[in-house]
Amino acid sequence: MTTNDGPTGQVTVLGLGEMGSAIARMFVERGYRTTVWNRTASKSAPLADAGATAAPTAAEAVAASPLVVVCLLDGTAVDEVLGSLDGAVAGKTLVNLTSGSPAQGRVNERWANEQGAEYLDGKIMGDPPYVGTPNIMFPFSGSRGAFDAHEPTLRELGTISYHGEDAGLAAVEFLAQVAVSYELLIGFLHTLRLVQAEGVDVAEFAERIAGSIAVHPPLLTSMGKAVKSGDYGPDLGSLNVQAALMDDMISHRESTGVEALRMREVKKLMDRRIAEGRGDQGFSSLFELLAK
Ligand code: NDP
Repeated sequence: MTTNDGPTGQVTVLGLGEMGSAIARMFVERGYRTTVWNRTASKSAPLADAGATAAPTAAEAVAASPLVVVCLLDGTAVDEVLGSLDGAVAGKTLVNLTSGSPAQGRVNERWANEQGAEYLDGKIMGDPPYVGTPNIMFPFSGSRGAFDAHEPTLRELGTISYHGEDAGLAAVEFLAQVAVSYELLIGFLHTLRLVQAEGVDVAEFAERIAGSIAVHPPLLTSMGKAVKSGDYGPDLGSLNVQAALMDDMISHRESTGVEALRMREVKKLMDRRIAEGRGDQGFSSLFELLAK
């Protein structure tokens, strides 16, 4: 075991689904004195065989450790389980890894604080088999003191990051990271349609794209800086030039029978910016048009 949480490395895990079980097992294997609880008690058996203590109730499981990790299906399950704790969380640190919204994180924090507990909201970006490796990410937010006090234990989970005292910020980070993936991937799928329509091998094209994706990180960071400062240089070229290219891309898609909805949307944004006299600015300046 690389670290202890509290004097004897004690941790409680509430919820033994796919993810909660992977987390509890990791703690057991690293030598933590691990107490587990699950609504369906039979799911505790493999963990108990591995060395965990199975508590008969959630409240008793919480009483066993200073650090309590919650990993349940959703906010409704969290509400039900927390509602059954009956004062047991006073003096504890509650780390809720259940998926949910920023608002739910803030409400849970208020509840925990009213109970005399510290609260950290965490989100999970990765699959159960990666728990305990750097290949799964856990953004956290909420009590800075709790994060600092339990950081070595939280590090056992994977790659962790702290996003601020506002308990909603871990969910903000999670939803934003997932949103970028989906936006990227739907664009990728559209492009595979186009490539296939032109008779190019989609798998080979995907391999080439995977090889060239490394050009993007510097572009993303420079766009972030441009948006923050409002100083929009001609990244990817000026909008005047890009708008002409966009016309080519739209007509190429249309000529191959591939849907061009998002491209037309991008072109509309470019045209609006150009009409505002900002055609000398770059792609990042479209940010100015994206508020509702
Ligand atoms: P599972 O469906 O495998 O497990 C759900 C858990 O929630 C079980 O322990 C279940 O108990 C419990 N539960 C559900 N409803 C209630 C309730 N009303 N009262 C008490 N307990 C309840 O889900 P996962 O373990 O896979 O996911 C847990 C969390 O982790 C989710 O928020 C999920 O979004 C997140 N996550 C999961 C990933 C994954 O790949 N699995 C990846 C990233 C995040 P019971 O056994 O009694 O049904």
